[in-house]
Amino acid sequence: MEKTKLLYEGKAKKVYETNDPALLIVDYKDDATAFNGLKKGTIAGKGEINNRVTNHLMKLLEKNGVPTHFVEELSPRQTVVKRVSIVPLEVIVRNIAAGSLAKRLGLQEGTKMKKTVLEFCYKDDELGDPMVNEYHILAMEYCTQEELRLISQYALKVNEVLSAYLKDLGIELIDFKLEFGRLADGTIVLADEISPDTCRFWDSATGEKLDKDRFRRDLGHVEDAYHEILRRLMGE
Ligand code: UDP
Repeated sequence: MEKTKLLYEGKAKKVYETNDPALLIVDYKDDATAFNGLKKGTIAGKGEINNRVTNHLMKLLEKNGVPTHFVEELSPRQTVVKRVSIVPLEVIVRNIAAGSLAKRLGLQEGTKMKKTVLEFCYKDDELGDPMVNEYHILAMEYCTQEELRLISQYALKVNEVLSAYLKDLGIELIDFKLEFGRLADGTIVLADEISPDTCRFWDSATGEKLDKDRFRRDLGHVEDAYHEILRRLMGE
């Protein structure tokens, strides 16, 4: 498998075409951004950690009935994935109030939600990824009703599987963001990444933040937090 052409360069990853039109190679970068690109920096070793953490969790999800775009880890920071057209939604699942939800509803961070919360944002940097509901999604045809039903079902399944898995490793899954894509035949699969960049992970015992909030909020020990997640997941 070889990279033939740079298809897209985002904030945290580069995506390349390959000699197989159905497969792409994702290359994870150490670059970090927050607040819609306003804050920029690098987190040493992040690319490798996010690649390895994402692949580990994608494999776990596949085993538990969630179809994903994962094909094969090529190298520490590169992975072969199935080519998809991305559904332009950020799918956010929340177990405990934090970040924008805590702010919006006036909740203290750490407040347990009585029921899992599912949110959708329309992926558009210029608009600042506005939150949308089912009516906006169908009216704007971001996806079909059947796709939205499947996406919601998969997102809640991802939450069940990951919450239970991480709990045993002493990690509380506070909230996370998913993206889904369509294969050439229309099949919906989980795409993008699942990493400390896209999830809030709190140490179950101490409540210590082990995710990108350390970068967003200048809490220090950012690299240590990413390494700690890798260590707990992979035992290294
Ligand atoms: N998130 C993400 N990308 C985004 C926005 C949010 O990966 O563009 C993740 C974030 O890491 C957190 C969850 O989605 O785990 C909920 O984020 P929130 O809406 O609280 O926004 P934030 O406070 O991170 O701006």
